[in-house]
Amino acid sequence: TTPAAKSSVLPLRSESALRSAVAEETFEFTAETDRVMEIIINSLYSDKDVFLRELVSNAADACDKKRFLSIEAGNAADALRVRITADPDKKTLTIEDSGVGMSRDELVANLGKIAKSGTKAFAEALGDAPDDVNLIGQFGVGFYSGYLVADKMTVTTKSMNSDKTHTWSSDAKSGFTVREEGEIEGSSGTRIVLDVKEDCSEYLEEATLRRLLKRYSEFLQFPIELYASKT
Ligand code: ADP
Ligand code: MG
Repeated sequence: TTPAAKSSVLPLRSESALRSAVAEETFEFTAETDRVMEIIINSLYSDKDVFLRELVSNAADACDKKRFLSIEAGNAADALRVRITADPDKKTLTIEDSGVGMSRDELVANLGKIAKSGTKAFAEALGDAPDDVNLIGQFGVGFYSGYLVADKMTVTTKSMNSDKTHTWSSDAKSGFTVREEGEIEGSSGTRIVLDVKEDCSEYLEEATLRRLLKRYSEFLQFPIELYASKT
């Protein structure tokens, strides 16, 4: 099931207010997403590291799709890359890719429900064997694993097939919002900003990020740029 728009907020007071207002829609997660998110957050707390693998592999998947579509269309693709930036002052970790990006409808569909069987199978397997942490490595746990280390995630994205940029945002508690807003460099791509939890500041450190990226980067076909200050 596709999440239904709960409300649409657009002040209609005056023409000038209308011009400056950004239409924002608020959505509730589907019941299944709520449950899987709870499982992810409660069951994986001992292996928070997985979040980076999940977000980087999504970014690489998006680059792969863009490369494929560009070849198919006979276009030269932009430089395909994944960029990771840690800002210890703002306490944000940003994962950016120049991949396919998402349209508004894709944002709502892909980040509003558990998209793939991988996450579902993971939840089911955990249901059978809740103490077996070895299961963690066997399943893709997906986008929502970002909430292991973040209080809030903000996704700004532009699809190859659209001129518009949209921003999705959620604290994982009260559904999510989508608005037409933000900037993306190049023809398409996605930027995910994680507001890193107070007790997860190690993920803003260069050494931690480098160690984790080294673990996954051998499987990736796209360059990963890391911007973090030495601590
Ligand atoms: P999975 O990768 O198993 O499909 P995820 O929860 O990791 O599940 O991601 C859900 C979906 O959200 C992906 O299938 C993809 O369509 C979309 N998505 C996530 N991250 C990105 C990204 N960086 N760029 C484009 N689409 C993305
Ligand atoms: Mg994924």
